[in-house]
Amino acid sequence: MKITRISVYRVNLPITGGYSFAKAKTVLSADSTVIRVDTDADISGWGETCPLGPFYLPSYAEGVRAGLSVLAPHLIGLDPCQTAALSRRMDRELRGHPYVKSAIDVAAHDILGKQAGLPVHAFLGGRQMEAAPMYWSVSQGDPDDMRRAVVQARQQGYRQFQLKVGGDPAQDIERIRAGMDGATAGETFLCDANTGWRRDEALKVAFATEDLGYIIEQPCDLYSDNLSVRRRVRQILKLDESLQRPEDVSQALADDACDIACIKISKMGGLSKSRFARDLLAAHGIAMTVEDVWGGEIVTAALGHLAISTAPDALLNTTDLHNYNETHLATGAPESREGKLYVSDAPGLGIEPDMAVLGDPVAVYA
Ligand code: MG
Repeated sequence: MKITRISVYRVNLPITGGYSFAKAKTVLSADSTVIRVDTDADISGWGETCPLGPFYLPSYAEGVRAGLSVLAPHLIGLDPCQTAALSRRMDRELRGHPYVKSAIDVAAHDILGKQAGLPVHAFLGGRQMEAAPMYWSVSQGDPDDMRRAVVQARQQGYRQFQLKVGGDPAQDIERIRAGMDGATAGETFLCDANTGWRRDEALKVAFATEDLGYIIEQPCDLYSDNLSVRRRVRQILKLDESLQRPEDVSQALADDACDIACIKISKMGGLSKSRFARDLLAAHGIAMTVEDVWGGEIVTAALGHLAISTAPDALLNTTDLHNYNETHLATGAPESREGKLYVSDAPGLGIEPDMAVLGDPVAVYA
């Protein structure tokens, strides 16, 4: 099978109520890039990459499309089902920029699945659970608003909650106390600073909330600061932004730098590399979140397949990103019920894009 054409679409995904996190950053609408990979076998695959603004990770929406303009011409004529060779070729043609490659790698897995008549998770180790536990992310804001958001998510069946902090330490202490007001023993809270604290600020917040059992997520930007914080706080520590490549995962394991990790598919460069990082973490007994930065139904399908094929004792949670958006770009995406994500066994990713939402491609490489 050969790739004959790569079409690029741009979709705006307005976020319900907006999404605020560390350093006073708010994203009202996410700029998503969807790609369609056509083949000479009359099978098409879909992928999506959606950065969360240009300030969250070293990725940005225009960069996805610029990167594809460099990369896509090199991929015409390659076999999408040879995912390892495809991945190696992408690394040879464009150094770095994993988020650009992620959409291609996901589309290749979609094609692989459709050709074999099997769901994508069959190529990631196979289904290991009926549904994956999810967390609900609570946008940073007024402590009382955050408390109400937790109550609302709890009513919908969620038992894991992520509180966005990483702002003013005194306010963050209030946010954590308010969000965790009424927390029960069976619930999990993650307080995610998204790199927003200085070392001393992270320590201040952690020490002041030591009586509350929660997971502190990515307190600082620098890896060395996170290591220092980890050595001194009593909270369970999760790393997210510090783990941008499989090599970062190896380093964190060697340094005993975290108790929990976060795999985001586009951060790692696609399903192939995310699977490797996931299995490495699982082999070391480190639980993880399996998700992506942002995105619609295609991103959610990809992360859903990776999540349900993860060893159950290694999967802390996943997320239903498409449910945070007001625009829906495909049918067949994983369904959320009672705080769990259900992924179908339909061939490939199992999604069917809505061409009326995608519109005309902004670029075509053939
Ligand atoms: Mg995080």
